[in-house]
Amino acid sequence: MSFKTIIEPFRIKMVEPITMTTEVQRKKFLEQAHYNPFLLNSDQVLIDFLTDSGTSAMSAAQWAGMMEGDESYAGARSWRRMEKVIHDLTGLKYVFPTHQGRAAERILYGYLGGKGKFFISNTHFDTTRANIEFSGAEAIDIPCIESNDTQSEFPFKGNMDVKKLEDLILKHKPKNIGGVILTVTNNSGGGQPVSMENAKLVSAVCKKYKVKLFLDCCRVAENSFFIHQKEKGYENKTYKQIAQKMFSLVDGAIMSAKKDALVNMGGFLALKDSSIAEACKNLLIITEGFTTYGGLSGRDMEAIAIGLEEVFHADYLLYRIRSTSFLGDRLHAMGIPVMRPIGGHAVYVDAKKFYSQIPVEQYPGQALVCELYLKGGIRSVEIGSVMFGKYDDVGKLIPSRMELVRLAIPRRVYTQSHIEYVIEVFEKLMEGKNKVRGYEITYEPKFLRHFTAKFKPV
Ligand SMILES: *Cc1c(COP(=O)(O)O)cnc(C)c1O
Repeated sequence: MSFKTIIEPFRIKMVEPITMTTEVQRKKFLEQAHYNPFLLNSDQVLIDFLTDSGTSAMSAAQWAGMMEGDESYAGARSWRRMEKVIHDLTGLKYVFPTHQGRAAERILYGYLGGKGKFFISNTHFDTTRANIEFSGAEAIDIPCIESNDTQSEFPFKGNMDVKKLEDLILKHKPKNIGGVILTVTNNSGGGQPVSMENAKLVSAVCKKYKVKLFLDCCRVAENSFFIHQKEKGYENKTYKQIAQKMFSLVDGAIMSAKKDALVNMGGFLALKDSSIAEACKNLLIITEGFTTYGGLSGRDMEAIAIGLEEVFHADYLLYRIRSTSFLGDRLHAMGIPVMRPIGGHAVYVDAKKFYSQIPVEQYPGQALVCELYLKGGIRSVEIGSVMFGKYDDVGKLIPSRMELVRLAIPRRVYTQSHIEYVIEVFEKLMEGKNKVRGYEITYEPKFLRHFTAKFKPV
């Protein structure tokens, strides 16, 4: 017997109240936040879809694990448990804990990067790109051709363009390639999955030229669900076995545990090669902490170990992926241009299509982010020219490839009625959509400008 409704596979026994607000109040809050929702206070927000990062609800087992955390400086039991779970999952010999994903990125890409080096990825996540560029190296994105069409139903739009990968390695010479990074799922590229076939092809090219391949595995469990569902030959494998297969293709992995490890803080770096591991170990000790805690408390490591196992549970993954597509498919049916098919952790709205009257220089994505907040108290994030735009020599905007708005769904946090409310807010936005105007930037920092930039309506 099967039902249409996928119920949340958990009951709620602790609640966190949401502060209700009116549109009049939100208008003032948004002005005070300079039209950048990153600058809002969380209690000014009704539904927080800013990010799925570090916003998961932990399970009873994880909270119980927190109490058992071993806070010893060296050789803590909680570290050994976390290390064992990561070994088992990744098969990679050297594992280092870090306080979050970007710390692992800074250590690894700082070491392998530097002036004259190139990194190639299906799409670098913003902190990944920033850490690479900060080292002086260059980050090149080569998403597959299918990803250009936001409306195609191609199931693995997170794939890397393998032909371009080989061309780039030859063009820049293998010795100048700091690393190839496969991001699963492809966060900035729409939360789209990468197929096992693509990972195998990428791995084969990297082996051919002796270039290192790393997995940015923040959402490897969600990616495994899609492979199980959509790629031939994996129907009878468990989600964990699929992830293990993918890890067997790479030289190392970086994870922000704030995603698929179902915790609020943490990360790790795992490596195969002893000489890279040795260098990273030294950097870790200097900047993060000793090798058996790396910036984390024992209780954090305990929760990560438990979360990394829970995330592969079949009931959880089914609920997770189905509830994301529930929102996306409903918006799609209403005629809202969303990136198809719906990815794992988020729904991406094509703001350039939605607000076709707003030129990219006036940031249609920022306009949608502001409207969602004003009308419904929903916080989302622009993934377009505010995040990735650059300027040419005369200060003219070089826009991002796409102008998307991401509605990232925290894990195990919102119920179906929260989602129904979000759908209703979109119905309201449809009504007044032709009157909405764009924004201009009044302040921006040099790196990761979207976090702190200030705007004003044009
Ligand atoms: C979140 C994320 C990171 C960075 O991790 P933090 O824990 O936020 O530092 C890197 N890569 C991807 C794909 C991510 O989603």
